[in-house]
Amino acid sequence: MFPHPLQCRCLTVVAVVISCFLHQSLVAAPPEEFRYIDTHVHFHDRKDGDLDKVIEWMDQMKIDRVINHPLAQSRVKTDDERSAMLRNYAKAKGRIDRFCIIFPEEVQTVDEAVAILRKEKESGAIGFGEHYGVNLNFDDPSCMRLFEACEKVGMPVMFHMDRNKNLDEPGFPRLKRVLEAYPKLILIAHSDWWRQSQQGACGELLAKYPNLYADISCTVKRSAIGKDKEFARKFFTTHADKLLFGSDSGWWSFGKEPMPEFQFILDLDLPAEVLQKICGGNARKLFWEAQAPANETNNR
Ligand SMILES: [Zn+2]
Repeated sequence: MFPHPLQCRCLTVVAVVISCFLHQSLVAAPPEEFRYIDTHVHFHDRKDGDLDKVIEWMDQMKIDRVINHPLAQSRVKTDDERSAMLRNYAKAKGRIDRFCIIFPEEVQTVDEAVAILRKEKESGAIGFGEHYGVNLNFDDPSCMRLFEACEKVGMPVMFHMDRNKNLDEPGFPRLKRVLEAYPKLILIAHSDWWRQSQQGACGELLAKYPNLYADISCTVKRSAIGKDKEFARKFFTTHADKLLFGSDSGWWSFGKEPMPEFQFILDLDLPAEVLQKICGGNARKLFWEAQAPANETNNR
């Protein structure tokens, strides 16, 4: 028996309503409602008021929180600068956090590094980076000292890799050595690390090592992720628990076109749960809710 035409229309309407509802619950929230946590930015923070400009930018970009990483050019150099920096972060509490750095050649022992990092942690640093091992192998003894110290203090490390920084070979044997030597150290990969995504090494390591994460800055221009949306969607969905949104924006990008990752992640039509994890949930867990496993204190 065939249904009455009116019944057909009703069924169609119901089907459309259900599919709209399912679609809405599975794809990204509309950009107006969407907020990011950006775990990878570089802004100046050493002069009074420096972070006010960053908060304005965050509001424009719909960013709830950022993590600011010092580079050689932006690192504090005097006690006065340090006092101003700490005042800036106190004012931006809950919106802007910071990592800290020690260059590999600056310390000779693990204890020396631990003493510096403890002081940094007490004054609010929540991680170590951006770590550039310039002209060094990823597992150079001078970098191993820093990794050991970060594991002891319970600071995640965000690192950069390129042709002359934190060198490694195909398949990342040196990174693997560090992941295995310091299983309680959280390592966050970025930049040229992504170049091996298509060969499978990135996914393999993310799946194998619970202490490895990656931030998605530099994916669009440097890896297969940016060239192949289908591949990106699959990669981001498979490793949704291990990825952090990061844009690598910095003092150089104020007033310019936003970094491509802001739009790219929305264009992938990821399941809502995946998008929420990558753009905020994972960072919340890692940095503000459940701190790294080896943390000495859990007071943040
Ligand atoms: Zn960076």
